[in-house]
Amino acid sequence: MATYDLLVKSGTLVDPAQGIHARRDVAFSGGKVAAVGESLAAGEAAEVIDAGGKLVTPGMIDLHVHVFEGVSHYGIAPDPTCLAKGATTVVDAGSAGADTFPGFRKYVVEASATRIFAQLNISSMGMIAERIGELDDLKWASVPRALETIEKNRDVILGVKVRLTRDSIVGKAAGITPLHRAREAADAAGLPIMVHPQGAWCDSIDDILALMRDRDIVTHSFHGSTHGILDENGKVRDSVRKARERGVIFDVGHGQGSFSWPVVEAAMAQGFPPTTISSDLHAYNLNGPVFDLATTVTKFLHLGLSASDALARVTAVPAKVIGMSDTIGTLAVGAWGDAVLFDLEEGAFELVDSRQQTRIGRQRLVPRVVIKGGKTYEGREVSLAPSYAR
Ligand SMILES: [Zn+2]
Repeated sequence: MATYDLLVKSGTLVDPAQGIHARRDVAFSGGKVAAVGESLAAGEAAEVIDAGGKLVTPGMIDLHVHVFEGVSHYGIAPDPTCLAKGATTVVDAGSAGADTFPGFRKYVVEASATRIFAQLNISSMGMIAERIGELDDLKWASVPRALETIEKNRDVILGVKVRLTRDSIVGKAAGITPLHRAREAADAAGLPIMVHPQGAWCDSIDDILALMRDRDIVTHSFHGSTHGILDENGKVRDSVRKARERGVIFDVGHGQGSFSWPVVEAAMAQGFPPTTISSDLHAYNLNGPVFDLATTVTKFLHLGLSASDALARVTAVPAKVIGMSDTIGTLAVGAWGDAVLFDLEEGAFELVDSRQQTRIGRQRLVPRVVIKGGKTYEGREVSLAPSYAR
């Protein structure tokens, strides 16, 4: 009997949680990390992968995706778009609300190889129809319904999501009522909120941040619309810095319309990088400009983060944010056996933001092998229904 089910040999292990960026072998058995060392014996493993020249990292964690395929108009299939691309754990950011969550749980969470958690939308319908905002009627922002659903699904639901964009809210008179409802539900459940701030019915992001605390997440941090993190002079707002000081998480949530090169460049130049890097991968950005989480990480290499600092924001940091540092986001012995083997390619790569502005990156992270639960994931090729090609 082999000691290890799988041995990844001769790669460069980048595991920010352990402070390791060095050549290491990593062995898996029983679905977990069994050993990490400078030279583990190949003879003791049932299967050996040569990772020479590659980066070996913990499986990535994407805190913002939309994977309610076939029900939410944003939804895409998680396994070919997340797991096969190195995001072994993802959080669906509000595709489902109380009325649709049972289906999300049964047909997506429990049916996928990707490990999936969720932010429950404060709207009980969730993000279903393209032409009907999820808060076109405030009746849908039901605190009791959200709470009931959270209580039944505590193992999957990590927080409460609210989108404050006016397109999805009934009208000006509603103001930021949905944010108050999300806050109320999250507080009653002892969970954080995740907020999409841009285009809100209020004066600035200051009004939104006033309601946000430790562990709450601002997603789409570097969007180029109204209610952004920069003031009229392009400086990071005081309210934003103070929010970060008290523990509010500033997440990327790139998306179709929420990542602007000028905004992120200005923020980074003022010492304001994101806390976590997420993709907001969905049907309308899967074929660009997002493509996948690795491409979003690649944009932060271009912005000056080291590979370790960028990869920390999709491994160690999000694991801590969701309270799972012992099991995911690291390849420490005993952690769950999720890993990615990347090529870090050199060249000239077009990197497009949400406003068709381009930068040329000199490095690119390309996931080549994905390991989930100590086994190589033989992912299906990504194939898209024609309706997604938009
Ligand atoms: Zn989203």
